[in-house]
Amino acid sequence: MKFADRFRAPPETRIRLADCDPDGTADYASKKDARKALKRVTRRLTELQYLLYAENKRGFLIVLQGMDASGKDGTIRHVMRGVNPQGTRVTSFKKPSVEELDHDFLWRIHRAMPRRGDIGIFNRSHYEDVLVVRVHDLVPQHVWSQRYDQINAFEKNLAENGIVILKFFLHISKEEQKKRFEDRLANPTRHWKISPADFEERQFWDQYTEAFEEVLTRCSTECAPWYVIPANRKWFRNLAVASIIVERLESLDMRFPEPSFDVSEIRID
Ligand code: ATP
Ligand code: MG
Repeated sequence: MKFADRFRAPPETRIRLADCDPDGTADYASKKDARKALKRVTRRLTELQYLLYAENKRGFLIVLQGMDASGKDGTIRHVMRGVNPQGTRVTSFKKPSVEELDHDFLWRIHRAMPRRGDIGIFNRSHYEDVLVVRVHDLVPQHVWSQRYDQINAFEKNLAENGIVILKFFLHISKEEQKKRFEDRLANPTRHWKISPADFEERQFWDQYTEAFEEVLTRCSTECAPWYVIPANRKWFRNLAVASIIVERLESLDMRFPEPSFDVSEIRID
């Protein structure tokens, strides 16, 4: 069975994260097997990115969301290892700047869209505007509650204009987050990655879970599906995300453009 079919959140279906196992590893029993498979998959990704770039028809957008320490950075590092930096751009969305707040919430998102032939990776995204914003009442409910439909319409527009969209929710358990925070605390080279605010956010775990469930329930569409990735085990998370990206790229049936001249007539002196 394809990874994509296994982990796609079906459209218009109520998603409960309690029913999704963050420890899942599909059919992979060991880290070693998964590592081997990941090598193969990332090698294929290199070829497919080359083709995407050459074809120059579609942009390819990867959205990564998850709780703090769910592994967004690590996923980018491992999955995108083999891709050519020319043709790839990672955008991390932080707290909006004053200028960004002076615009509609999708303004900064639209500006970061990959151009044709490119892969764009979003480390956080417009979904923050119905996650952190909702959990902390940063705008009134009547404002954020309209955003699910606005996001669906926005993504539909992108898809119809040549952007392929994949969205990944990296699903870790609350215990796993604790473990990862403790690891970071114990390792001085990781201290820069943590702030007291991260630990405070943990108190809102249930509210975030609810907010994520609404996103996964309302915004997983045919043209821009969400995937719920078991992410307690990093090696499985990497393999699942990389495989789904490769499966989607394969499905595009890309072709190298025909040369605009007769190659056989060229003579090089
Ligand atoms: P890491 O996960 O590696 O710590 P990070 O993505 O958390 O990296 P930070 O600079 O620590 O990077 O955090 C970015 C912060 O910006 C997050 O707390 C996120 O919730 C917040 N943020 C992102 N988008 C918005 C938004 N639209 N409105 C308010 N806050 C936002
Ligand atoms: Mg952070």
